[in-house]
Formats: sequence, structure tokens, C-alpha cells
Amino acid sequence: MDTKAREQLLVKYNAPAWMNTLSNIPSHRIKASMENTPIERWYLPGIPEEFEVYIKRDDLTGCVLSGNKVRGLEFIFAEAIQQGCTTLCSAGSTQSNMVRTLASMASSLGMPAHFIIFADKDTKEGNNLLQRMTGAHRYMIPNVGGLEFDQEVWPKVQQLAEKIRKETGELVYTFNFGSPSSHIFGYLKVFDELLSQDVESFTDIVVSCTTVPTTFGLAVGNHLNECNIKIHSLITGESKAYAVKEMNKMLRYVGLQEVDGSGPSAEDYCHMTETLGDGYGKTTQEEIEFLKKVATKTGIILGSTYSGKAAYHMVKELNEQPDKFRGKKILFIHTGGVFELFDGRMQNAFDKDDNVKQWKDAMDN
Ligand SMILES: *Cc1c(COP(=O)(O)O)cnc(C)c1O
Repeated sequence: MDTKAREQLLVKYNAPAWMNTLSNIPSHRIKASMENTPIERWYLPGIPEEFEVYIKRDDLTGCVLSGNKVRGLEFIFAEAIQQGCTTLCSAGSTQSNMVRTLASMASSLGMPAHFIIFADKDTKEGNNLLQRMTGAHRYMIPNVGGLEFDQEVWPKVQQLAEKIRKETGELVYTFNFGSPSSHIFGYLKVFDELLSQDVESFTDIVVSCTTVPTTFGLAVGNHLNECNIKIHSLITGESKAYAVKEMNKMLRYVGLQEVDGSGPSAEDYCHMTETLGDGYGKTTQEEIEFLKKVATKTGIILGSTYSGKAAYHMVKELNEQPDKFRGKKILFIHTGGVFELFDGRMQNAFDKDDNVKQWKDAMDN
């Protein structure tokens, strides 16, 4: 695919009237995701039957593109195409859903993609395999004690982009997922989709949160439409302080907070709770058992890093504080992450699987 063919994919983005007061609304998007993902009743095991829980299936936004990231990246790639960029540069970890989605979208658009990958060694997780299959160029840097993204990673992305520009003459688009840009409009757009799916009938929305654009879109959409839904943002990576800081940056980007930080802030829009368990990307035995049980009883496959932890916490809270949720109608946003499961840990959980028998033994009994 060449520049001309890419330009033909640009679609004008007509933001709904309720976004009128926002600044920096992107002008275009490309259509990469499956939209209008269904909302289904979710009969989660281990919670009282009287609780009405539903699930928005944003794990169905695509196959390799599944999950929440593609929603925002439709705006990012449109911007890259509008600027005439032919190559993409970004960063992430070996198991990153963001890198997997970026790599896949870039390859479908015929754009080479280059990533700084912070990991001590190359690994064999599901997302990493897909990053490789889609031809991403990856440059490993040691991940010593949690890198400071802005100081230690982002400058390397820019250096790399500069080198590619010099050597190839390509126009390089650099994407910093830690900085507000058009991708934060992804879930504002999803909120518009939710309005057409009777979102106002819900009292609560539960979503997992790390770099915050998903929470931001849902919370701001809820606010601007005066839906009065309680938004529970369950923080499954980083800290609450980080999430609040990021969300405030986003509020300033769209003009809902003054540059000096005055005006409503993150926690006026949503309720943020840290639900890290054993830590970012680490899964407890209990959480693994929960993922198995949910898949067995409901057919829903949750990811281990984000959506699974958020659902685990939600079920815990519904049990521990039933009075708080009685009579409520809850919508859980499935943000995807199925490829997180292919890192060996889930397979280990089935080492002693009672559902596997020799045919002969089963018939003899
Ligand atoms: C990135 C991610 C999240 C967190 O969304 P943010 O918008 O970064 O807060 C949740 N679930 C999955 C599967 C993700 O990949």
C-alpha cells in the first residue's frame, strides 16, 4: 500500500454535538475496528443472582486488533497519514497490547513499524509473537527496575526516528502513548456508541485502567451527557497517583481543566481504585483460578493483566459490599487482552487438569 492508497482510507470524523465544547477534536479517522461491539448479560460465577451485570465486548473489536487500543489508534493513524508519514516509531514491552495493535495496524497500512522494547530479553508471549509476525522492527533496551518513560524511553524513540529519517528519507510518525493526543478520543467515540446501546439504563460502569484513555473517554462522555453513571476505574498497572496525573493532563488537552490545573479534576469524573494484586503483569493463583472459572461458566476469556484483574476485583467488591450494589445495573467493559494468556502461566494452571482423561480409563469406570 502506498501513500495515495492510505490517504483514501481517511474518513472525516464528525464528532457528535455533545463534544462541541472540547478542544483538539481530531478531524479524521480510519476504520480499523469492528464497531458497535455487543453488550450482553453476564452471569458471573460467585456473585448473588440479584446483581445485574452486563459486559461490553470490546474484546471483539477485531482478531489481532482485539481490545481497547484499536479504538484510539484509528485517530492516530489518520493523523500519521494526513501528515504524509510513511513509517511508525513507538515503544512498549514484549507483552504489550499497544505494540501488538500498533504493529498490526502499521503492517496493514504498508507502513514499517519500529519499536523500542523495554525487556531484559526477548520472550515468547502471545503479543510478542504477533509483534514479530507483523514484521515489527524491535530494539531491546534493558528494563532495569522500571524505566522512567519520559526520561529513559521516549528520547530513544526520537533518536531512532531521527536515524531512520536520515538513513531512509522516510517521514516518521512517533507515537507517545503516555502523552495526550488524538488517541484519547477513542473512548469518547465509544461513549457515543454506548448512547445508542441504551447506556443510560446502567447505574455503574466498571473498567480496568493503566494509561487512562479508556477511563477518560467513558468518564468524560458520561459527564458531558449528564448520564450520572458511576464510573469505577480499576487501576491494574501503575499507581493511582499516576492515573490521576495522566487523566488531568487529558482533561487539560480537551480544555476541561485550566492550564494551571484549576477546575474539576480526574476524581470529579470517576472513582479510581488500585487493584494491582501482586503487581503489574503479575497474576496470583487466585486470579488464575478466577479466569478459569469465568471462562468455564460464561465463555468469556479475560486477559490476565488488565480485564481479568478488574473483573476479579469487581466480583470481590460485589461480595464484600453487597448493599452498595443491590438494585444496581452494572456494565463491565471488556478491554480485551486475550493474547496475555499465552505466556506459559495459564498453561501451567492446567497441568493437573481433571478434565483430561484417557478415553479408555473414562469408559472403564
Ligand atoms: C491498555 C489496556 C487497558 C488499560 O487501558 P488504558 O486506556 O491504558 O487505561 C486495559 N485492558 C487492556 C487489555 C489493555 O491492553
